[in-house]
Amino acid sequence: MKEYDVIIVGLGPTGGTLANLFALNGFSVLILEREKSFYPLPRAVHFDDEVMRVFETIGITNDFLKYTIINKGTKFVNSKGKIILDWPRPRKITINGWYPSYRFNQPDLERQLRKKLKKYKKVKILQNSEVVKIKNTKDKILYEIKSKYVVGCDGANSIIRKEIKTKMDNLGFTQKWVVVDLILRKNKKNLPDRTIQYSNPKQPATYCRNVGKRRRWEFAIKNNQNENKILSETYIWNFLKPWLKKSEAYIERKAIYTFKSAISRKWSRGRTFVAGDAAHLMPPFMGQGMCAGVRDASNLAWKIAKCLQNKHDKKILDSYQSERFSNVKEYIETTMRMGEFVNAIESTQITDNISLNQDGTKSMQSIKPKLGPGLGQNKDNNRGIIFPQLKMKNGKSLDDKFSKNLLIIITSELKNKSKFSKFPIIIENEVVGLSKLLKNYKSKAIILRPDRFILQSCNSIQNFDKFLKKLNNFLTK
Ligand SMILES: Cc1cc2nc3c(=O)[nH]c(=O)nc-3n(C[C@H](O)[C@H](O)[C@H](O)COP(=O)(O)OP(=O)(O)OC[C@H]3O[C@@H](n4cnc5c(N)ncnc54)[C@H](O)[C@@H]3O)c2cc1C
Repeated sequence: MKEYDVIIVGLGPTGGTLANLFALNGFSVLILEREKSFYPLPRAVHFDDEVMRVFETIGITNDFLKYTIINKGTKFVNSKGKIILDWPRPRKITINGWYPSYRFNQPDLERQLRKKLKKYKKVKILQNSEVVKIKNTKDKILYEIKSKYVVGCDGANSIIRKEIKTKMDNLGFTQKWVVVDLILRKNKKNLPDRTIQYSNPKQPATYCRNVGKRRRWEFAIKNNQNENKILSETYIWNFLKPWLKKSEAYIERKAIYTFKSAISRKWSRGRTFVAGDAAHLMPPFMGQGMCAGVRDASNLAWKIAKCLQNKHDKKILDSYQSERFSNVKEYIETTMRMGEFVNAIESTQITDNISLNQDGTKSMQSIKPKLGPGLGQNKDNNRGIIFPQLKMKNGKSLDDKFSKNLLIIITSELKNKSKFSKFPIIIENEVVGLSKLLKNYKSKAIILRPDRFILQSCNSIQNFDKFLKKLNNFLTK
């Protein structure tokens, strides 16, 4: 019977990212996808710099960049047309080496993820293959095919979540929205270049400036409204009247979604995991649902990889849920508050990051929550924060050095001790800007995880031997 290292159920953006990360590390992956092809219609239209950095690791950015535009940000406008809050996304490269946020069309991303996967000999994609049941045994997952691990990236109605025998907790936001995707027949200059959130109690709505001639409008509906009537051309074109004439665009698709906020209580059982929408759901106001799934993939991939290389380690694998749970929950809760704000509950404070501008308007900043407790020590202030993308003095990216393995960076003072490490070591003078950064972190040495987060920092030369010994034992037992 053929055995794979990992079986991934579901080839959406989460499954596609995860499979690429495993393949990059040389593991064999079987992907079981229910549909004949990928879902061709738009859903996600926004992602951020952290997620682009993961796409860079996978090696799809060169091609994919052509299908993206840099997002200029969001304005919140009240029913009188006054801007009540600004969420700018400055056109400035962030610590992740990319712009803060991008707009895209989900099928373009899924195409790129699949194209890349097809280049790996050890990856097999079986479409038209629905998983109906899996069986968990002590050290193997038994299906018709064997694998050491199974990850359910099978979306909101995940069958794998059911196999884990857990429940989704509803966090409180449930509202029906109509989503209308349009393609302009000709460029139209007087449509906003930013996302606009219309905080209007009579009709909460969102406008998205998407890639090329694509534009999206979303509007809330009440549970008792007639859905067939709302989805009729007459109703939709009447709604669009303030912005567009029927002759100026055609509707690519229209659908009613129930925007939900929920999180799974358990994210794994034995050797079976869930990731992406299978583990959590959020309304799309911040454009973070898919981003959260990509973050899950990035967190889980290297941990399963370590277990495949060494041996099954429950502690490492348990840290997947504990680190990701609070991070995604913060995104869900912020998104929910944004949803309330768009529903014109203006007293809602979306984040703590809101400042008053000189002209009396307010601006909000993006949130970047730390990882929840897990690997490393909580008392270490640097643990769980993302490490910037830096360049080596030879021009290469430092990211390449730790996309597959842990890496230790040290000050020059510790150079002589580097030979005692089982993990690759980089000395501060090999990397542009590293000396300053180590000072900012108040650290003599830092361990970087393959997912770009800091595992641990060491603040004194005296402690380094102990620090190294602990690390050498970590993951190599
Ligand atoms: C209107 C809208 C706008 C959005 N906007 C944004 C945005 O701007 N930014 C953002 O980050 N997110 C956004 N999202 C959320 C984003 O689309 C989802 O979070 C994302 O698609 C989740 O990816 P996934 O791979 O986890 O799941 P999915 O995309 O749902 O993929 C799951 C896959 O699993 C397959 N599958 C399911 N069951 C089985 C089975 N039993 N066997 C085999 N295969 C199976 C399915 O066919 C599917 O291909 C938006 C969502 C909506 C609805």
